[in-house]
Amino acid sequence: MVVKFRQFIWRMLLLFWAVCFAQIGLARMAAAQQVAITIDDLPYVMPSRVSPEEGALITQQVVVALAAYDAPALGFAVGQNMQGAGVQALNVFAGAGHPLGNHSWSHPDFGELSAWAFRRELLRTDRQLSKWSADQLGAADVWAFGASGGLFEETGAAEIGAGSQEAQKVPSGQKLTVKKPTGQKPAGQKLVEKKLAGQKPAGQKWFRFPYLREGKSAAQRDAGAKALAKQGYRNVPVTIDTDDWVYNDQYMKALADGNAVKALEIGAAYLAHMQERTAHFDALAQKVLGREVPHILLLHMNKINADYLEELLGWYAQEGWQFVSVDKAMQDAFYDLPDVYVGPKGLSKLERVHAVQ
Ligand SMILES: [Zn+2]
Repeated sequence: MVVKFRQFIWRMLLLFWAVCFAQIGLARMAAAQQVAITIDDLPYVMPSRVSPEEGALITQQVVVALAAYDAPALGFAVGQNMQGAGVQALNVFAGAGHPLGNHSWSHPDFGELSAWAFRRELLRTDRQLSKWSADQLGAADVWAFGASGGLFEETGAAEIGAGSQEAQKVPSGQKLTVKKPTGQKPAGQKLVEKKLAGQKPAGQKWFRFPYLREGKSAAQRDAGAKALAKQGYRNVPVTIDTDDWVYNDQYMKALADGNAVKALEIGAAYLAHMQERTAHFDALAQKVLGREVPHILLLHMNKINADYLEELLGWYAQEGWQFVSVDKAMQDAFYDLPDVYVGPKGLSKLERVHAVQ
């Protein structure tokens, strides 16, 4: 009787420890969930419909939401919008310490472009990013280059002088490549491309394909990859692909109509969509890789994210997710896997490496 009782006690103790270890294991798995935030279409979505003031406000709200959760974000800028009215919003974003990547010049579908046109889109925005960064340092004289030279005319002489000193403190191989004597015709694309090749960039440069479309054929995809590598860029895919832009369109229409109830409904539907997409792609990672991956989330710089990002990040935090930089996320070997999928669709990297659309 005593022996049986002892066995019972031991079994109960073993069961207790098994449950404890299982819970610790689950907690560890939950803690391992990581997500990097990426925000496309900077300075902000639909500059033709959104005023510069509203664009800057949208950015400010997004930046505040990110700060509330200490979440780093990588923004992808459309080169042709990085001037005039868009600069204020870019300054708000980058001023909060978030880096900017290249999202092409005019947001085309790369499946429809020649290799030459691809490089042109890449290079024009590369220059615009360089000029914009230099302008933040007040080094406009060094950066007088490219298609929109008038952009930096506002910079005063005193500011230029101080800025040039400032610029010299920041080591960057790129700055020298675009320096040209005033009044001289800008160098052609070919020349610039050659000069940039082989030089170590000051930091990693990031690229995001518009619509996540990376080329229709293997040849086109490879040409794109080659052009990116030559310019020191790394392609930043997404794993959590979302349709936040669809909800934003509906949300903006409801707000324009003065329909607050409808706007709230769309906001709630947006949050549910983001949660569903997150669960879907997290499960897909488990299915195709058998493990967690550090995820990369796709967002756009738009009104619905301005109003709901804080709530969305709150949900991630509550679910045990940790916010990491793209740089850290992409150190995972998953991001070095070659794509199996080749075709016109814009897909999650999880779908690309296993062709499970
Ligand atoms: Zn985009």
